[in-house]
Amino acid sequence: MKEIGKFSFGLGDRFGHQGHAQLKAIIEAGKKGVEITPVWNKSNREHNIIGTHPVDVRIEADTVTHNAGFRKPYFVDADHINLDTVDRFIACSDFFTVDVASYIGKLSPRAEIDKFIGSVIKYAGKIEIPGIDKGIKCSREHLVEIAEKFLFASKKAGEIYRKILDVKGPGTFITEVSMDEVAQPQTPVELFFILAMFARENIPLQTIAPKFSGRFNKGVDYSGDPLKFASEFEEDLLVIQHAVKEFGLPRNLKISIHSGSDKFSIYPHIGSLLKKYDKGVHLKTAGTTWLEEVIGLAEAGGEALEFVKTIYVKALEKTDELCTPYADVIDINTGLLPKSGIVAHWNSEKFASSLRHIPGNKDYNPNMRQLMHVAYKLAAERSVTWLRLLREHEEVVADCVFENIYKRHICRLFGID
Ligand SMILES: [Zn+2]
Repeated sequence: MKEIGKFSFGLGDRFGHQGHAQLKAIIEAGKKGVEITPVWNKSNREHNIIGTHPVDVRIEADTVTHNAGFRKPYFVDADHINLDTVDRFIACSDFFTVDVASYIGKLSPRAEIDKFIGSVIKYAGKIEIPGIDKGIKCSREHLVEIAEKFLFASKKAGEIYRKILDVKGPGTFITEVSMDEVAQPQTPVELFFILAMFARENIPLQTIAPKFSGRFNKGVDYSGDPLKFASEFEEDLLVIQHAVKEFGLPRNLKISIHSGSDKFSIYPHIGSLLKKYDKGVHLKTAGTTWLEEVIGLAEAGGEALEFVKTIYVKALEKTDELCTPYADVIDINTGLLPKSGIVAHWNSEKFASSLRHIPGNKDYNPNMRQLMHVAYKLAAERSVTWLRLLREHEEVVADCVFENIYKRHICRLFGID
């Protein structure tokens, strides 16, 4: 039976060149007493834009772990798959993020809704959750609303899970269900009943990715009230713990945070709550490794610096086209994007520190960072040069990738000095 460890990190590596540097960060954390399971994830959209295939991620993960002599578990995640996209991921993946976002809000047949409500009606009124003193309230009407909103999605999750199961067999893969790519966050009470639904579908759920309140923009810090997030996260932890017992879900079920990377202001809250309740977490970082590649090449100077400048200039021209597919997860003030004529005069340090996420650095520009985050397509279009530059400057780029994952993410989340 494959089980995900207590702590795991989702690592995105768009161009498939930085697995070794990401793994080095995981190994370094291990030396400091924090065991983290690496999970390499790449979505269908990323594969399509870059022109890679799911098996490429498997080859990369197998190669870098073999080369490093890494003998602990690691996984390859079919990120955000659904019934239409799962097929080509099945053979080479052993972690599946089953995305049900597009099914949320679709209505199940009335008889199915009634049947579900019958099975959980004993919770109507007030649910006693150990650790939440006031309990959580749920009227019968609210229960109906929850079933109308989520039951259909849970059935689809079951369908996708069984499709994978039929090919791979039981216990051979990790199942996550994600609901983060929607407009409305799920409340703790919704989460409780959603878990009941997944249990009814017999999904051996090991990680669940809810949508939290606040904005999780790609590559930049959390936007919202960190204390409000902390209390919501705490309630979710307690709700999951209780749901596991009530509904017989896997005991290691944990929250997966599709963080979009760089949520520095909430990492300390997450870290201390995990410690308080002795819980694990899966933290999915976004493909910000690509940004570290840009930063590393900027630092390398010469042709490499000029190349990343041309990508930025092109991105400025194509801002709308690049940003539209990511509208829900970026917030760019285009008035604050540096103009191409200005960037043309920048040296390595200025370009790198404008992109590198160091809060408080006067050069750091979150608008430019977000725009570059969604501009990886432009590098993919000139992949021969791009990949040659990555190879030529491998060391400086790998240092940037390592430092980003290790220092800015792992150390902050787990309180490593
Ligand atoms: Zn996600």
